[in-house]
Amino acid sequence: MFHDSHKLSDQQHHTIGPFLGPTRIAYFSMEIALRPEMHTYSGGLGVLAGDTARSASDLELPMVFVTLISRQGYLRQELDQSGWQHDHPDPWSPAESATPLRAKVSIPISGREVWIRPWLHLIRSPLGHDVPVLLLDTDLPENAPEDRGITDRLYGGDARYRLRQEIVLGIGGLRLLSALGFAGIHTYHLNEGHAALLALDLLRRHPRPADQVTNGDLRYDVAPVRESCIFTTHTPVEAGHDRFDWGLVSELLPDYIDLDQVRLLAGGESLNLTHLALSLSGFVNGVAQRHARTTREMFPGYRIRAITNGVHLPTWTHPAFAALYNEHYPSWGLEPETLAHADQLPGELLWKAHDQARHELIAAVAERTGVVLDPARPLIGYARRMTSYKRPELLFSDIERLRRINARFPFQVVLSGKAHPLDEPGKRHIQNIFGHIHELADELPIAFIPNYDASVARLLVPGVDVWLNTPVPPMEASGTSGMKAAINGVLNLSVLDGWWIEACVDGVTGWAIGRDGAKGAALASAEDLYSRLENDVLPLFHQDCDGWIRMMQQSISKIASTFNTQRMMRRYAAEAYVR
Ligand SMILES: *Cc1c(COP(=O)(O)O)cnc(C)c1O
Repeated sequence: MFHDSHKLSDQQHHTIGPFLGPTRIAYFSMEIALRPEMHTYSGGLGVLAGDTARSASDLELPMVFVTLISRQGYLRQELDQSGWQHDHPDPWSPAESATPLRAKVSIPISGREVWIRPWLHLIRSPLGHDVPVLLLDTDLPENAPEDRGITDRLYGGDARYRLRQEIVLGIGGLRLLSALGFAGIHTYHLNEGHAALLALDLLRRHPRPADQVTNGDLRYDVAPVRESCIFTTHTPVEAGHDRFDWGLVSELLPDYIDLDQVRLLAGGESLNLTHLALSLSGFVNGVAQRHARTTREMFPGYRIRAITNGVHLPTWTHPAFAALYNEHYPSWGLEPETLAHADQLPGELLWKAHDQARHELIAAVAERTGVVLDPARPLIGYARRMTSYKRPELLFSDIERLRRINARFPFQVVLSGKAHPLDEPGKRHIQNIFGHIHELADELPIAFIPNYDASVARLLVPGVDVWLNTPVPPMEASGTSGMKAAINGVLNLSVLDGWWIEACVDGVTGWAIGRDGAKGAALASAEDLYSRLENDVLPLFHQDCDGWIRMMQQSISKIASTFNTQRMMRRYAAEAYVR
């Protein structure tokens, strides 16, 4: 992963100078997964931002990426004997992957000047094009001790801490781009609502002439702001939409803007950053077709489009598959459409590549967890943020049923995932899974790999045979881990939600659990999952090797050719960035 990013030795020669003139689009994200040793992301949103940046580099799009440096990372997960998660900071060393720039800006927060310095990291495409990433840092001696830590913990702290981070990202980031001398930026892409204050700062630059405003009207002109701003919303989950008390906003941003003016744009009781971003963006999209529809229902009155997410293929393709694709479709990394022909790849070569990924996983599981997996049994994988709406325990709803299925068609399971530090139910899911692991140890091998991150995903996802996903629809806005599975010939077994509604051809590219809830079917149940496993997935694996490989071919050709960030960024470029 991330092989295309610069090491410091190359980077020392680089400055921001060459990017100041040509850059047209600035992409703002609270998190972004750049390299494994840069702990500037927590999960899917950051991985998507990183894949976006890698494809922007491949496509030579004139973009700059802006994020927080998150010196203390997100969370290092330690699991005790009982499976209870203990949360630790996860620091990293910026100097090994990025260069501090000399420029600095300050913004007032709570009446104190907070200085922000950017670090520069470059992403280089295989053809040699660089895309700059600016990592915002407040850990400077001129700042008050309390302010030095603003850019430390990703998604850490309380509402006050979070709002200060978002002021630094949105307002600080925007002003820093001007201070550095980016003169040609015409488009700001807000990846999720975290950067919405950027749009508010733009709005302040466009007061309407006093004689054109009557009392109670907005005294600013939204049209030029809406022309510049693009907003991608990523979740229908309530907690994913930041809200701040007006009292807190006025305390941190006194004399910044008349908050009655902001109320006109962003809801009544609290400052809702999703509302603010919706009001101030001329192009708004959800991350899959179903998610766009759900978002329209949540926020009526806005035009919400759909651009379905993807993954950066060269980043997420296992080396054994990459070698195969290189040989048969040499331009697949830059032109993933060519992988539509992958249904013609010889089955034995596909299986050989898959088997290599499997063995690497089996070895790593033994080393990291002590669980010995059996290469003859199918491996079911499940890894993502551990939180209730994703139903990580659905597979374990009926242990006796699971035992009976396993007695007929033996299988095994590998899981991984962190719970957000404040998500107690999420932590309990992990602990309960540990209980099931012990309970079933004699008959059904189950392993839980600690500390899920992009490196674990690179190992786990291509190494299993079946990738399981069991969210409560429509909560899974898109999901991307299933795409990573598919491009490596791993078959998806998933509830119909997010991207899978678009990609699932049942029995061809993978399997659906239950029916599409939007068509009046009940929520996919544990019984739906068990019956698919017992009647379709496991018999096929054990009894029809050729049939399995045919599905691997279909999964790669139909999914890799479409659900990639190359296609996704061409759509953003054609539909959102050029308007
Ligand atoms: C791809 C990836 C995700 C996204 O997972 P979904 O559940 O599909 O949204 C999350 N975390 C990591 C580390 C990933 O690599």
